[in-house]
Parts: sequence; C-alpha cells; structure tokens
Amino acid sequence: MNIIKGSAEMQQFSRNERRRGKTIGFVPTMGALHQGHLSLISLAKTRANLVVLSIFVNPLQFGKNEDFSKYPRPIEKDTALAENAGVDVLFLPEASDFYAESHQTFVSVEGLTERFEGAIRPGHFRGVSTVVMKLFGTVMPEVAVFGKKDAQQFAVIKRMTEDLNLDIEILGGEIVREPNGLAMSSRNMYLTEESRQQAGVISKAIFNAKHSIDSGERDMEKLLLAVESELKTFSKLTIDYLDIVRLNDFQTPEKLEKGVEYVLLVTVRVEGVRLLDNLFFTA
Ligand code: AMP
Repeated sequence: MNIIKGSAEMQQFSRNERRRGKTIGFVPTMGALHQGHLSLISLAKTRANLVVLSIFVNPLQFGKNEDFSKYPRPIEKDTALAENAGVDVLFLPEASDFYAESHQTFVSVEGLTERFEGAIRPGHFRGVSTVVMKLFGTVMPEVAVFGKKDAQQFAVIKRMTEDLNLDIEILGGEIVREPNGLAMSSRNMYLTEESRQQAGVISKAIFNAKHSIDSGERDMEKLLLAVESELKTFSKLTIDYLDIVRLNDFQTPEKLEKGVEYVLLVTVRVEGVRLLDNLFFTA
C-alpha cells in the first residue's frame, strides 16, 4: 500500500494511473476506521481497479464547540486496517498543506442543507462539500463511495456532483451495524458500554418501521409515532429530529407517493453523543 501525504504527489499519482487506463475508486473518511468504512472500500473495489482511501479530520466541517480536537486519530491501527482491506493508496493530507493560507473558495449546496444536520450544525455541510470537492480535485476518481448512514451528506454530495457537472459516479454504501443493531460510528466509543448496548433500540425502531412499510403501511404519522414510542423506551435518549423526507430534496411530503424515494431520518442524543440512523425506502 502506497502512503501519500502531499496533494501534488497525489494528483501526479492519479494522473499517471488514469493515463494507464486505471479506474480510480475513492473512499473519503475521517479515520478511526470500522467495518462501515471497510464495507465502502469493498464496494469501491467492485467498481474500480485502484482504490484510494483518504483519512483527513477536516477542521472546516466542525463547529466551534464540537469534537475536532478530541476526534479519535488511531493512525497506526487505521493504516493496518486499510492495508488488510486491500487499499492501494492511503492519502493522508495535512491540514497545513491541504488548506493554504490563501484559501478563499468554498462550496455551498443550498436548499438541501437548510434542515436537520445543516440546521443543527451551521457551516457543517459547507465544510463537507468544500473538502470533498478539493479531495475530488486531488484524487481525480471515476467513482466515489459514501455511506448512506449520513443520508443528508450523501444527498448533498450527489447534488454537488450533478450541479457542478463532475464526471464522478457517486455510490452509496449500506449502513453497517454493531451486533445489537447500532449503526457503526467512530463516535460510538464516546458512549458507556451500557448505553451502547441500550442504543440498539434505535435500530429496532428502524427495523420495525421497515417491516411496517414492507407490509404496506403508508401513513407517515403512524410510522413516525411508532418509531418515537420505541425510542422513548430508552430514558437516556433524547430525539434531535425524526422525520420522513424525499431523498432528492430533503423536504417533508404531505403524504407518501408511490414510486418516490424517501428517507426516514432518526437522530438522537445519548449521553451527549449524537447518533444518526435512517431508512431509505421507496413508497
Ligand atoms: P466518517 O469517517 O465518519 O466521515 O465516515 C466516512 C464515510 O463512512 C462516510 O461516507 C460515512 O457515511 C461512512 N460511514 C460511516 N459509518 C458508516 C456505517 N456504519 N456504515 C456505512 N458507512 C458508514
């Protein structure tokens, strides 16, 4: 596995490989790798013959009171995991090299980012779309893979790619879960063991909703109430938001329409840790 730190070197590498006819698949992450990240690497490998994984804790997407400085950075373990997963290039940009002091360009996807994560974390998506655009310009992939766990982020990146005519195919990886159903996240390690176990209730609520939808339920209020009452069985949990939105614009419909793609969004807090989960479905 090649380890590249400089942007110019990364670009040079990708340019050469593309000239040789290689298809580059790209998986951007912030590290503290888990099975969720590894599944994205596997997906990239099915669509590309060279996989680049980036690890970069992007300062631009963290709010002032968020966990930027304490975000886990187990780089040795991550390097070993990436190598075992068959990553060809591990790209590790350094903030000082990646964002020049003269940097003045930002990418903002508008409507899609007004609600949910965008409302709770002002500036977050601007940071995400800017770094992803820069990474795309540096890695120059044909295919890039993002987790559907971050549903709004996935929608934002797809919109940016389409709006800016980028010649990159965006693939979505399914949510990978812990044995109790909790969606894997680098932030789960902030939970106590007991809460981590009890947080399995979030996925239970999601799976019940999936079962109801598969059985023909299309009443949004009923679906959301059932999720809410399941979540409320865990007293340490508070709901940040719970809604059903159209995948293409993240707006809440009046009612579910046949053939349209939706996402049921569930975001909660447990012991101050924000946990995201969701269900993609077509009505
Ligand atoms: P992060 O390192 O948290 O920025 O995540 C990097 C990528 O991994 C993003 O595209 C995430 O959506 C994705 N991801 C994170 N957790 C999971 C998971 N449990 N299952 C699938 N993808 C995930």
